[in-house]
Amino acid sequence: MLTRTWLAQLPLTKIKRVQPVSGGDINQAYCVQTERQRYFLKVQKRQTGAFFAHEQAGLELLAPAIRVPQIIASGTIAGDAYLLLEWLDFGSGDEAALGRAIAHVHQQHANQFGLAHDFTAGKLPKYNAWCNDWADFYINQRLAVLADLARRQQRWNDFREQHLQQLYQRIRTYFATVKPVPSLLHGDLWSGNSNFLTDGTPVLLDPDVFYGDREMDLAMTQLFGGFSAAFYQAYTEVYPLRANYQQRIPWYQTYYLMAHLNLFGETYGPALDQTLLQAAI
Ligand code: ADP
Repeated sequence: MLTRTWLAQLPLTKIKRVQPVSGGDINQAYCVQTERQRYFLKVQKRQTGAFFAHEQAGLELLAPAIRVPQIIASGTIAGDAYLLLEWLDFGSGDEAALGRAIAHVHQQHANQFGLAHDFTAGKLPKYNAWCNDWADFYINQRLAVLADLARRQQRWNDFREQHLQQLYQRIRTYFATVKPVPSLLHGDLWSGNSNFLTDGTPVLLDPDVFYGDREMDLAMTQLFGGFSAAFYQAYTEVYPLRANYQQRIPWYQTYYLMAHLNLFGETYGPALDQTLLQAAI
């Protein structure tokens, strides 16, 4: 819990109440109530202010395309990183509106794949050096990084390596002729990171942005579910998908399952192996 002295260093006056918010798995999160309004506070113990710079940059890049919480302040207090955001009250909304909003996010383009900065303070390093070729970026800066990490954690084996190498081949062959436009991606688009304001406006939370193939975000929405048919239909009306999109879902779900294998262990091994099998053939 945060002490009085700690809280006094926030750029807020007259804090009346601080309550922990559950649901976040990475940070400590709190609802901070002042005399005038509420705020959402994220704290990462023993990290520098740079820890939240990536999330902050992501919120700023997403803001022109979709509603995100406004940034109030960020920095370091007593050796802990913090990010203070506008408090949002959530309600329910139309999945089609969310689909259209995500399509608008993906219509934010860059000239290359990557981002202006790496994010290596998190549990899984994100190397975002700008790259002209999506196959190179996805293989070298995403998949191979997680394979190395899994190997170091003794969570890798010959089956996984063999199928990953086959997947590399498929990716290289397909992207030798198909050249996607780099799209702004949320980067961690599971259903817990999208929501609706009480007036139904779709909102995105907790971004891990970079410019990539938009199919990667969509594959993530399909990994753990929670997005309806109306979501996909509305998305494709705004931004039609490339041919045979469904075939490439396992290519991208492989990345997210490798992330889960690294973060949470062998519980995700069977799902990864099954997805690798589909991805590699
Ligand atoms: P973490 O980075 O730890 O995963 P999240 O950003 O996902 O944290 O937030 C954790 C919880 O707080 C989620 O349940 C989310 O719905 C809620 N939440 C996130 N941002 C806000 C906000 N600005 N206002 C109110 N609640 C929020």
